[in-house]
Amino acid sequence: MTYDFDLLVIGAGSGGVRCARIAAGHGARVGVVESRHWGGTCVNLGCVPKKLMVMASDYADMVEDSHGFGWSTTPGTHSWPTLIAAKDREITRLNGIYVSMLEKAGITLFTGHAQFVDGHTLRITPSPLAPTEQPRTVTAKRIVIATGSTPSKLDIPGAELAITSDEAFALPERPQRVVMIGSGYIGIEFAGIFAGLGSKVDLVYRRDLPLRGFDEDMRTALADAIDARGITQHHHANPTQIVQDGQALVLTLDNGQTLTADCIFMATGRHPKIDSLGLGNTSITTVDNGRIQVDANSETTHPGIYAIGDVTDRINLTPVAIAEGHNLADRLFGKAPPRQWCYATTPKAVFFSPPVATVGLTEDEAAQNGAVDIYLTRFTPMRYTLAGRVRKTVMKLVVDQQSQKVVGVHILGDEAPEMLQAVAIAVTAGLTKADFDRTIGIHPTSAEELVTMRTRTRETPKADK
Ligand code: NDP
Repeated sequence: MTYDFDLLVIGAGSGGVRCARIAAGHGARVGVVESRHWGGTCVNLGCVPKKLMVMASDYADMVEDSHGFGWSTTPGTHSWPTLIAAKDREITRLNGIYVSMLEKAGITLFTGHAQFVDGHTLRITPSPLAPTEQPRTVTAKRIVIATGSTPSKLDIPGAELAITSDEAFALPERPQRVVMIGSGYIGIEFAGIFAGLGSKVDLVYRRDLPLRGFDEDMRTALADAIDARGITQHHHANPTQIVQDGQALVLTLDNGQTLTADCIFMATGRHPKIDSLGLGNTSITTVDNGRIQVDANSETTHPGIYAIGDVTDRINLTPVAIAEGHNLADRLFGKAPPRQWCYATTPKAVFFSPPVATVGLTEDEAAQNGAVDIYLTRFTPMRYTLAGRVRKTVMKLVVDQQSQKVVGVHILGDEAPEMLQAVAIAVTAGLTKADFDRTIGIHPTSAEELVTMRTRTRETPKADK
């Protein structure tokens, strides 16, 4: 049997593009099909535009803080349309880079929507990115699904009146009053963006603290930081309905409270994008929330068809999708052993102001394995002493008592993601508290606290199973 391609990748997001490029570099004949955005969610509707907007939202505080250093600047006015236009220009530039990167690698690009005809054949039909393209059929020995995920909304009356992150990036004006539903990554990040740019923000979530899954000390510190940013938190609250009231929207909560806003934003998770892929023409199995079931080699239950990234709902982060795509291409087409990553120490960051970043185990998770030593410090970074801003940095080391390995590092504070990326190497390498202790600090920095926490804050016994 001969095929048009050795590998067809559906979806030109972070994972799909990496997989295609590495496979092409190994000499495979590769095609990529994309229906919406070259570069996928990260570049177009995720990490990149979000971070640009977080940066934009930090300037008002920075101008105010400069007064403590002798500047007599006054905060100006912010133009949301100017920010969105600048962000769009940058995204268009990145789209072009993605296309040229793929073309230079000798990869064939198809714009359109891909649907399985059988395990080796895709039907490509016109999509919004290329509405006038002619439908065509292509075949490949192997196919990779890298279609990512899409925002999920709560199933409540009036949900259609709410936006998700997809729409937030293109709002024509900044809403003056925003109700954010959900306190995961997207809810926290966008609550911070809107508050920093001057909107009144109400944050609604169903737990006692935001950011479920993160270390408890970080969650508490984040709740304080959310208060300090002027965001009103409504915890233990569940939305029940949204109604239109003239120009405004009114959200009702299950505690009877109502919140009036110009924009209601649902940041309530994402689900794998598998609609209309024609999976019924294959033997691919989906589980849970529609995620494609894969084995440790990213192979689906249909031999020769693979899935990587958010569509598999493993760790839904861009660098993980890239690692999965790279590893798969090495394994399928490379001559040397495939490059491996340590997923257990995947660092994570939530870009609030200040951000939260984390690697390894939380205190509670580590205590499941045995007693742990906790080193915790809270301090005001130098910048805020003269500025007079109340903004604490919190750092925490979780150390396995028996081996003395540092099994978790958690930071809330300015530049936490930058610090955490570096310290994640130490945690991945399995270094001990003694290794941290014999490392000389850089003075004066916040990061030096990571190597100068000499005194144990507390000891946490092994948790009862
Ligand atoms: P998350 O899973 O992080 O958060 C979802 C939020 O919605 C949680 O607060 C959750 O509450 C709440 N929620 C879910 N279902 C309900 C419900 N039925 N009723 C009330 N509340 C509900 O999803 P996000 O949408 O924020 O982000 C999706 C994923 O995208 C993230 O998990 C992450 O993997 C990725 N991402 C990563 C970023 C980064 O690396 N900086 C940035 C943005 C996204 P509860 O916690 O109680 O379940």
